[in-house]
Amino acid sequence: MKVLKFGGTSVGSPERMKKLLNIIDANQRQIVVLSAVSGTTNSLVEIGQAYLYSDKSKSADLIAALKDKYELFIKELYSNNTYYKQAKEVIDYHFGLLNQLSNDLFTPIEDKIILAQGELLSTTLYHIYLKEIGVSSVLLPALDFMKVDEDHEPMVDYITENLTPLLIKHPDTKLFITQGYICRNAFGEIDNLRRGGSDYTASLIGAAIRSEEVQIWTDIDGMHNNDPRVVKGTKPISRLSFDEAAELAYFGAKILHPQSVFPARKYKIPVRLLNTMDPQAEGTLITTESEKDQIKSIAAKDDITAIKIQSSRMLLAYGFLRRVFEVFERYKTSIDMITTSEVAVSVTVDDTSKLGDITKELQGFGTVEVDVNHTIICVVGDFAADKHGYAARVLEAVKHIPVRMISYGGSDHNLSLLVKTEDKVETLRSLHSRLF
Ligand code: ASP
Ligand code: MG
Repeated sequence: MKVLKFGGTSVGSPERMKKLLNIIDANQRQIVVLSAVSGTTNSLVEIGQAYLYSDKSKSADLIAALKDKYELFIKELYSNNTYYKQAKEVIDYHFGLLNQLSNDLFTPIEDKIILAQGELLSTTLYHIYLKEIGVSSVLLPALDFMKVDEDHEPMVDYITENLTPLLIKHPDTKLFITQGYICRNAFGEIDNLRRGGSDYTASLIGAAIRSEEVQIWTDIDGMHNNDPRVVKGTKPISRLSFDEAAELAYFGAKILHPQSVFPARKYKIPVRLLNTMDPQAEGTLITTESEKDQIKSIAAKDDITAIKIQSSRMLLAYGFLRRVFEVFERYKTSIDMITTSEVAVSVTVDDTSKLGDITKELQGFGTVEVDVNHTIICVVGDFAADKHGYAARVLEAVKHIPVRMISYGGSDHNLSLLVKTEDKVETLRSLHSRLF
């Protein structure tokens, strides 16, 4: 059984929603995961913010504006009045709930209820549309099987145990529809898998039911070998390993939620990235295998801050790095890149919300230097240790660019460079022309 996930733009208009059936084969048993209609989750975030600041007139305005969008949406989506009326009731219910929250005390629980409405709306509206055109389908409530534990880690076994009976209950059903992104947490409250989490939902379902394949449908034909917004002539990469895909998803390529690679890797479920706008295009296939001897792709991650801690006490001392890392751990700030010398260590972070406190504590160890506005350039490919020349090719390509850090050898498939953000475009272009 395959799992197909469609992102916000793939369901972004009534027209696009109708076209999904060009891709979904209604005669094959499969689970379709939908995101919220594009723009919806952003609006819901704003509504939550307005509630947080007790700005009731703002929240009411935002809710009304979003509701207007949906009123128009359903006018175009349905042609039969019976189904239009059903959809209208659905919309009235969900927007009624959003409005009603103004009477409650606003806590993170209410905020997550707000965020969940987008996927609940898109899937229900699509389900009603399928009824209108006579395609039978079953709507599976993700809140009945998708769950995270107290560390916010998805519980794959729980998902298997709770999803399987729902599927068995409908032996003749071909098409199951469910919500991406939303889940329950350890307390049973409505929660979510964080922004962009519908990919993660698809991969978790794929893992939970040991699916033959997970397909992520977006509006670009797979992962490209460089950022198409910056570099001309980028090409889709036809094959990637899970590890390569994870590095790329994390370091820039916005097309896949980085965490979604892990459940698929653990249960060896192939993941295919495909383009709704060009369904015939080959896309990118992610599996345990990868093509050897190749540099696959270049990705960039902006808004990186580098922190250098220099200390003579580091010389010949053990436990120094542990103490440095403990500071970051205390402030729940994760480190992306790290390089060390005998007397200094440099790390990068992208979350600078605790930077002031972190710097203050690190100053207890030595001199601390902070450099903002940097970009990590991540080159992904087969960098196995017995290969020669690959690292040299990368460095040769950037010989005219000041490089702040280089990280190589952490894994067999990544070489990362830290450059000033102002040098990013030139770095990406130069690497592209020299490596591909
Ligand atoms: N709707 C959610 C978001 O915009 C989840 C997703 O689209 O994957 O983040
Ligand atoms: Mg997405």
